[in-house]
Amino acid sequence: MAIEIKDLTQLKSMRKAGLVVAETLKIIKESASQGMSTLDLNQIAIENLAKHGAKSSFLGYHGFPAVICASVNEEVVHGIPNKRKLTSGDVLSIDFGAIVENWHGDAAISFGIGEVDPADQKLMDVCEESLWRGIAAGQKGAKLTDISFAIESYVNSQGKYGILREYGGHGIGSAMHQEPHILNFGPAGNGPKLTIGMALAIEPMITRGNEKTKVLGDDWTVVAHDSSNGAHFEHTYTIAPDGKIFVLTAEDGGKQKLGLLGVETSDLL
Ligand code: MG
Repeated sequence: MAIEIKDLTQLKSMRKAGLVVAETLKIIKESASQGMSTLDLNQIAIENLAKHGAKSSFLGYHGFPAVICASVNEEVVHGIPNKRKLTSGDVLSIDFGAIVENWHGDAAISFGIGEVDPADQKLMDVCEESLWRGIAAGQKGAKLTDISFAIESYVNSQGKYGILREYGGHGIGSAMHQEPHILNFGPAGNGPKLTIGMALAIEPMITRGNEKTKVLGDDWTVVAHDSSNGAHFEHTYTIAPDGKIFVLTAEDGGKQKLGLLGVETSDLL
């Protein structure tokens, strides 16, 4: 199937969805504290969706029962919110998607509760920076796996981390998951050439151990096979009609982070 190309009007709807996602993740990060449960955080997301008249990308997706994925410690992605109380030192990853005017936005953040192990903080910092390096590599005219290579190269330059193999980024737009699948590893220079109007969700997932994972009995939660802690960051970005990148799920469109990498962002969205 071809990669869906969006015009400026459609991208503006995706920006609305992206801003709901950005705001919701920000509120969740500010609210999350010891003694709260991930089900409490799910409720915050439900309320923020309602406030904006937005719909959830996740609820009911292949039967997923919540509007956020909440993955704690050795859970890397796709955790189902539950009543277990968060405690100091937990590494929490929240993934969230919203639909506005039938267009999707998808993003994820990881952060610590209370005092976190510096090695866990570094895990999260490396994961986040690899996301920005991946986006910066995905400019107009680049090949798809230039993104994959940029992510892997950066992660490997920072220490010994496991990059998940079975999960990756994806095209996004009128549906949450579209072609192409985007690996977080592998050589550069392969796959389709990136063009104006493509929208991609880039999402590195790494652990402090190796890359092997297993899925728990709930059929969703992906945990590190060696029980090491994991991190996950994600943004939805596009190549705007002016040929410049714009991060639809970042409040500032990615201007600050991409600016540090020498990448100019679009003013069209
Ligand atoms: Mg995603």
